[in-house]
Amino acid sequence: MGDVVTMREEETAGGRGPASWGGVPPRTVGARTTNEEVRQQNLSAVLRLVHGSGPQSRSHIGSVTGLNRSTVTALVTDLLEAGLVREAEAAPTGRRGRPSLSVAADDAVAALGIRVEPDAVSVALVGLGGAVHSRVRHDLASPPNPKRFAQITASLVDGMRADIDRHYRLVGAGVAIPGLVDESGSVLIAPPLGWRREQVATRLESALGLRVTAGNDASVGAMAEARFGVGRGSDNLLYLGGSPYGIGGGLIFDGTLLRGTSGFAGELGHTVIDPRGARCPCGRRGCLSAEVNPGPLLKLLGRRKLDEDELDIELGVARDPAIRAELERQVDLLSLALTNFVNAFAPEAVILSGYLGVLLATSRERLSDAVRIDPVGAEGRQVRLERAHMRSRLMQLAPAEMAFAPLLLDPIALAPPR
Ligand SMILES: [Zn+2]
Repeated sequence: MGDVVTMREEETAGGRGPASWGGVPPRTVGARTTNEEVRQQNLSAVLRLVHGSGPQSRSHIGSVTGLNRSTVTALVTDLLEAGLVREAEAAPTGRRGRPSLSVAADDAVAALGIRVEPDAVSVALVGLGGAVHSRVRHDLASPPNPKRFAQITASLVDGMRADIDRHYRLVGAGVAIPGLVDESGSVLIAPPLGWRREQVATRLESALGLRVTAGNDASVGAMAEARFGVGRGSDNLLYLGGSPYGIGGGLIFDGTLLRGTSGFAGELGHTVIDPRGARCPCGRRGCLSAEVNPGPLLKLLGRRKLDEDELDIELGVARDPAIRAELERQVDLLSLALTNFVNAFAPEAVILSGYLGVLLATSRERLSDAVRIDPVGAEGRQVRLERAHMRSRLMQLAPAEMAFAPLLLDPIALAPPR
């Protein structure tokens, strides 16, 4: 049994994000009239704006959405009545007279963001608008099987239940899994956990009594980084997250997560960069995941495990030639892969998280060359190369975003009862 650590924090994320969470396509209901569809889209646009960008004045909502004043007023009234937004006093403008009220997402509307890793299960209670109200974590000595994962999650949620019942209205839960997850929330394979063909969303739904959405951790990380992190404002970005268990990727195009057939696009970690390289758990040799991995560096450092911050420090001061050589070898291979990805997908930004964020911190110049595009006859152009912004907080927000997605697309129909 591991320790349960409870932390409380009030954090609010801001910024503009992509237009929709790619995991859930807009629902089309044939019988709806055009007016109703337009109204639903407008409600969705207003709610997504205040969710992703923080409190807004009505006039700013009008200028961003292109809707006229009376339409904005009517939409905000509907969202207020459904309990999805609230009015807050806007910052003083220095002008005299009554301060105008801004419109904010109501963070009493909340979702659970669940994460399962080989050594921990964590649950965060996240409000609409991105405030992390509280989070709990259960450390594990070995990866949980799916049944144990559901039990641990249920007991963590039980511990939060009194607080939830008193103050919040839950829309559901999202769970981020290090593996291939299909659109129904079933895990095809999750090597770090040793899971294969598991109906995780269904199992959790019955354990929690909530609607549960499951997704690949890198895909959900990409969307959260796009909405709340360094990818804010970019509609086309490439996200790569690295860990001892491999590299996951997420591609966002025109604000939507690229899913591909069955939802498995973005498995960039299994791009082969050295056909004679190290064996990858997928069965091939020389995958990016197998070659660009903290394992060999930890061995050279004589350490079994280091978190991202510790690795930053250890590699920053390491002078051992063997460590420098291995670091350079890995950075050059990552650079090769990034060059290919940038040429293939032309993102505005490349976001590196986890272990890959550590490599960026130690070798920014070497990696920057990889994202310089020099098309024939054109001026060279640099793609933005960033380290993921939110670290552990991102992975709390990210799965909750999956749970908010349907509500953001059809706010009134899916508003949780008051
Ligand atoms: Zn592989």
